[in-house]
Amino acid sequence: MSTYAVTGSASGMGKATADKLRAAGHTVIGVDLKDAEVVADLSTAEGRAAAAKAVVARADGRLDGAVLAAGLGPHPGRELLIAEVNYFGVVELLEAWRPALAAAGSSRVVVFSSNSSTTVPVVPKRTIAAFLAGDAKKAVAATRLFKDNASAMVYAGSKIAVTRWLRRAAVRPEWAGAGIRLNAIAPGAILTPLLQAQLDDPHQRGAIEAFPIPVGHLGDAEQLADWVVFLLGPAAEFMAGSVVFVDGGTDAYFRSEDW
Ligand code: NAD
Repeated sequence: MSTYAVTGSASGMGKATADKLRAAGHTVIGVDLKDAEVVADLSTAEGRAAAAKAVVARADGRLDGAVLAAGLGPHPGRELLIAEVNYFGVVELLEAWRPALAAAGSSRVVVFSSNSSTTVPVVPKRTIAAFLAGDAKKAVAATRLFKDNASAMVYAGSKIAVTRWLRRAAVRPEWAGAGIRLNAIAPGAILTPLLQAQLDDPHQRGAIEAFPIPVGHLGDAEQLADWVVFLLGPAAEFMAGSVVFVDGGTDAYFRSEDW
């Protein structure tokens, strides 16, 4: 049986993944603001460092895999929090966990990206560059002119940047060469507490309902968790830096001509 770290383990797709891994007999070290083995706030550098250390200690320095699901939706007014959790809450934890993932000899990581990374137009390049340079405040400042839509730009920017970071890292010797497979899942609109909060907001509901989903319905957290569990399994050994879209066809609808 294996040991996995799962951030965002208290709700939505992170919880569904943690539940499935536990039901299969694996050990899960959940990280979340509450109801987790490691209670931590991933919106601060101190919280991230403490969480990373606590997980490694609980795992005795060896992790068979990690799922980075903690994240915030594009709620207006929370731009800096979105930037801190969605980008730095992935990158800083993975960098801290790399020795423990390498210690397993063969390990697999699934990062939650989003189909916002390909379907939200005009995300400022300066936002993405600032994320990759490690500057959350600059990433947010570069979206200022979008006013009420700034949070959507920070959200999509955080997902583009985290995916780019992952694809760069996935092929490097210290990751691929150390037996660590880094891949991402890009969900579309999945009915979780995160999406429900957006549907409950009259300013966001219309935009969500107007977004095309070719299969005709919202996605299900349990189904997404099945994909994540599969990507943690042995079949992902020959997969590095891939982004798996599970989004009811939205990405294909917008980008079928990009191939
Ligand atoms: P959710 O809100 O149900 O769960 C997210 C979890 O992250 C919560 O348990 C929350 O407490 C935790 N979290 C938030 N801020 C944190 C912090 N500062 N420190 C520690 N934990 C924190 O959301 P979900 O829909 O299951 O989303 C999971 C991931 O999937 C997120 O990264 C999200 O961006 C991504 N995603 C969601 C959708 C969707 O439609 N639901 C679509 C695409 C991508």
